Amino acid sequence: MLANSNAFLRQKNLFGGEWVDADGGETIDVNNPATGEIIGTVPNCGKAETARAIDAAAEAFLTFRKTTALERSKMLRRLHDAIMDNQETLAQLLTSEQGKSLVEARGEVGMSAGYVLWYAEEARRVYGDIVPAPWADRRIMVTKQPVGVIAAITPWNFPSSMLARKIGPAIAAGCTSVIKPATQTPYSALAWGLLAEEAGVPRGVVNIVTGSASEIGGEITRNPKVKKVTFTGSTAVGKLLLKQCAGTVKKVSMELGGNAPFIVFNDADVDRAVEGAIAAKFRNSGQTCVCTNRFYVQSKVYGKFVEKLAAAAADLKVGNGAEDGTQQGPLIDLRAVETVESMIEDATRKGGKVVTGGKRHALGGSFFEPTVIADAKPRMRFTREEIFGPIAPVYKFKTEEEAIELANNTEYGLAAYFYTQDLGRMYRVSEALEYGLVGVNEGVITTVEAPFGGFKESGLGREGGHQGIEDYLEAKYVCVGGLGM
Ligand code: NAP
Repeated sequence: MLANSNAFLRQKNLFGGEWVDADGGETIDVNNPATGEIIGTVPNCGKAETARAIDAAAEAFLTFRKTTALERSKMLRRLHDAIMDNQETLAQLLTSEQGKSLVEARGEVGMSAGYVLWYAEEARRVYGDIVPAPWADRRIMVTKQPVGVIAAITPWNFPSSMLARKIGPAIAAGCTSVIKPATQTPYSALAWGLLAEEAGVPRGVVNIVTGSASEIGGEITRNPKVKKVTFTGSTAVGKLLLKQCAGTVKKVSMELGGNAPFIVFNDADVDRAVEGAIAAKFRNSGQTCVCTNRFYVQSKVYGKFVEKLAAAAADLKVGNGAEDGTQQGPLIDLRAVETVESMIEDATRKGGKVVTGGKRHALGGSFFEPTVIADAKPRMRFTREEIFGPIAPVYKFKTEEEAIELANNTEYGLAAYFYTQDLGRMYRVSEALEYGLVGVNEGVITTVEAPFGGFKESGLGREGGHQGIEDYLEAKYVCVGGLGM
């Protein structure tokens, strides 16, 4: 058993079962965003090391593809157990590099284990088809095969669970992988290497490389041995990777940015809506792709909602995520704080009213006060831009049609939420929303059993659910003829 969090603080990369440094020995510092302390370093790798990691994955694929679904399922079950046996130490590691509260970090690690268990189960249900042939002496089979080497690039906001949604189905399908985690949160990803070893996942099936994003991304997208790229991150980087992947026509899955609307109708249970709003807005300090970006509240309940939301936001305990009772940790870095500040400045200049918060927290560093802004207007920046911080702008609307139009008026289409007690409206609005995930009277809806992914510029493909393994499989049609019938 892996004993403590130091055992997970792996400061090397994993290629073909060997823990290695960058060729030139260069390293990058990793900070704790709550304290500013350097908690360790990771190798600063580039193109050459990435090519070697890809070679290791390609070699491992030759044998891994021949394992049975049952063997891979058992491997994933052991991986699930290894994660759960170490949930607390993995959560502490996650909090130390990412900043979120320990409660949220435990939840994320539990969710990672949940994805792995789900794909342990799905591994055994990758069915093909036998299709009636139009010829008497031939038979048609459609089988599913692993795509091969996949490359996974992940963000800093959920450094463990965003990888679980990729590693789980990849192993289940029989693919090998090269992983490039976010530079600010590499340890939760490197821990997957140790956990995979502990679970008996063969050498070379999971390879992890840290360092220069453009060099690693360049090699991953150029190298013909990589058959698929799965990316979670910003829409801007996603578009760049899509272009780069065109050269070798790779399969791609993209989990990109969001701009979630949260609609509260006059007939809503306002207290329930406020409870959902706090979770949908301030979880992970507002740094999730499904975080509410825009609150739309109908005229009759507008005042009441703003007042209650502001009171609940002001009550949130801001602090070091590692301390008991902390509900909101720091933002990832000072650049994020500056972005949030500039959005508040833009809003107040255009008539927005700060009802609570609005400035850096007394704790200093990258801590920021949970903020509610009333009288939000379409011309304010957060109407179009992803906030990625603890600001809740509240807009007023009059009719259902107007709310739907405002909610859909964005190039994003990841998550949307609305609160109503009217059954007809529940169906009308959920069908009209151009979003991949819709929460009705619920503010947190992600679960391993359901597909996660966006419409429009929020992405391509789905992760989770039975759909999440499809992107790791190729369908092959085999026609068997000359049967003498
Ligand atoms: P990001 O800046 O796009 O970075 C994501 C990952 O891409 C990091 O590992 C980053 O590496 C890497 N990267 C950056 N430039 C690259 C390049 N030229 N080539 C290859 N890789 C490159 O996003 P982020 O700030 O980490 O994460 C926040 C974003 O992710 C938000 O937009 C959020 O909505 C989105 N997100 C979406 C989902 C979803 O499921 N739809 C889930 C979570 C987050 P470095 O760290 O080394 O720069």
